[in-house]
Amino acid sequence: MAGVEEITKRKADISSNGINREIFFQDGDQVIGVVVTKDGVQDNRLQDYWQHVMELSPKKWEYTFCKESAGQECVDCDGGVPRRRRFGFWIYAYYSLHNKPLDRVETKEVRVLGKILYQRDINDFRIINMPFGRNDSFWNRFTSVYYENDSNFNTSVIRVTKTGEGIKTDWGVSQTKSTVDLTEEQWEEAKKLPGIVDYFMEREEQRQVAKGVPIDEIPTLDLGSDGDDDITKSLF
Ligand SMILES: [Zn+2]
Repeated sequence: MAGVEEITKRKADISSNGINREIFFQDGDQVIGVVVTKDGVQDNRLQDYWQHVMELSPKKWEYTFCKESAGQECVDCDGGVPRRRRFGFWIYAYYSLHNKPLDRVETKEVRVLGKILYQRDINDFRIINMPFGRNDSFWNRFTSVYYENDSNFNTSVIRVTKTGEGIKTDWGVSQTKSTVDLTEEQWEEAKKLPGIVDYFMEREEQRQVAKGVPIDEIPTLDLGSDGDDDITKSLF
């Protein structure tokens, strides 16, 4: 990203796309879709970043984006707030599956392997982010899709699952037998998506503007450490 016009355009893209493009997983949720990052080397639609984790009270955590991820000064770093590494990527999400019906969101009952689940149709670009996991186990599951397809994410429909909570959280990434059916127009649209770090920077700025007002769907309070290594281990 370089130059006034490029940055201005990116910011406009982020704003016009709405600020809540992330999928927040509850225990047992699944998302089925296609990772749209094109290039395994230089593509900011798959990026890693730092996230600060502050314990507000026992088992109540607040997560904030670390601005050092974008090369900027970070007050949380200055204040010694622990942080951990995560990675995020854009996915064209066809739908998500849930163990229970969702509040305020339409779902339909489907039967998967003999079990009743609740499907929410998405059919849009979304961001998924996850921890690297102990010994990079979650990252390795994610990248195995890439390596098993001749260094390409775009040819397979994947299933991302999160089960368990706290330090027992497990993230799964596996390939499905479904066929990728995105149109040329959708691939073109995917090219215009903002970078992951740009997206989180913008969202963090919005959150600071709206200080004290919780932004819908951003869980500032959550349980546990999301399956990651000991938080203090990923300090600096
Ligand atoms: Zn920081």
